Amino acid sequence: MILTKSRIDLFELNPYEPCPCDSGAKFKFCCYKKAKASKPKRIIDLSYSDGRIHNFVKQFWEKTDFHTCFAFNKEECDDLIKSAHSIQNNRILNRISKDGHLYTISSTGTKEGPVSYLNKISRNKASTFFGFCNIHDTELFRPIEKKEYIGESIQNFLFAFRAHAIEHHKKLRKLNSQKNIFIEFPFTMLEKEHIYVYRVAQLDVRDCSVDYKVFKKDYSNANFDNFRTLYRKLDFEVSFAACSSFAVEYDLEGNIMNDIYSVGYEHMPSIYVNVYPTSGGTNILLSYHLNNDGTYKNYFDQLEKLKNEDLLKYLNFLLIQYTENIFFDPSFIENLSEKQKNSLLKSFDSSIYPIEKAILISEGSYYKFNLFEKNMDKSDS
Ligand SMILES: [Zn+2]
Ligand SMILES: [Zn+2]
Repeated sequence: MILTKSRIDLFELNPYEPCPCDSGAKFKFCCYKKAKASKPKRIIDLSYSDGRIHNFVKQFWEKTDFHTCFAFNKEECDDLIKSAHSIQNNRILNRISKDGHLYTISSTGTKEGPVSYLNKISRNKASTFFGFCNIHDTELFRPIEKKEYIGESIQNFLFAFRAHAIEHHKKLRKLNSQKNIFIEFPFTMLEKEHIYVYRVAQLDVRDCSVDYKVFKKDYSNANFDNFRTLYRKLDFEVSFAACSSFAVEYDLEGNIMNDIYSVGYEHMPSIYVNVYPTSGGTNILLSYHLNNDGTYKNYFDQLEKLKNEDLLKYLNFLLIQYTENIFFDPSFIENLSEKQKNSLLKSFDSSIYPIEKAILISEGSYYKFNLFEKNMDKSDS
């Protein structure tokens, strides 16, 4: 569906728009009656224990999952869709795992509302998503899987594309999640806050589809030079790895680049971010597509001028603000003080709940941790 200003209302479903239950019928002739007749009730029963709420939220999210292959030449796809790693398992995740485990930041529900926590998971599951078939997961990414990063155009393209793919998949799941709420709790189809979440999810998916087409076109033309990539190499290993894409709100001078809270009708382009340790060092790759010079050129000019030390301070903020796809060495997390752990989780939450930011700043615990500490286990000097 094309969302245009004339067709979209942020807080109301149009009677003639496709029903969010995906039946293909118009809302008015599909779930509208059901929505009118269904009684409002709590989606999460507050008489449940936190453990039961956690399981409910987890199962609800699992129901949104789906298999696809984001590769461009679909006729070559294998039937098997793999649980593909967005961050390499054998060359990157193994560097930061202990006994096959690492940490990530997860969210769950409680009686008091959503909370984030440090979640210890198997590295075989870390950063995975059902976004590539068996063949493409291997073939498409060969130039970055089997070879060190040496700044080739195709490598820059593939790092950006994989960061795109995992976020694209997640945005589709978030849209599924709201659709499932509509289906299970039809009264929500008439509730402003749910429709707003649905609209944001639709617009996010639309933005991803626009970006995807650009990747596809470049790939079909074997034109891999359309990304501006800022590359820095650190001479020590960090204790985390991240792979993500997102639209950045402000540049380094505080100018607005994407108004992410206004739910605009403009396409919001993403930047692509990969940070990961290699043997004895760390690679940092930030990029955007040159189609989006209008949005990101000045920003990247500013970033390029930063000395490593300042770039790292900035990335410490940027990664936690915009990424969920980040994984930590257990010893890094276990060596944080309670105050630092709290700051990490609350700073992460503050990206979703702006009120948290005000509280953290007043407590002096806003971003009081350093992701870019040298991984002491990996330094032999
Ligand atoms: Zn329907
Ligand atoms: Zn495929």
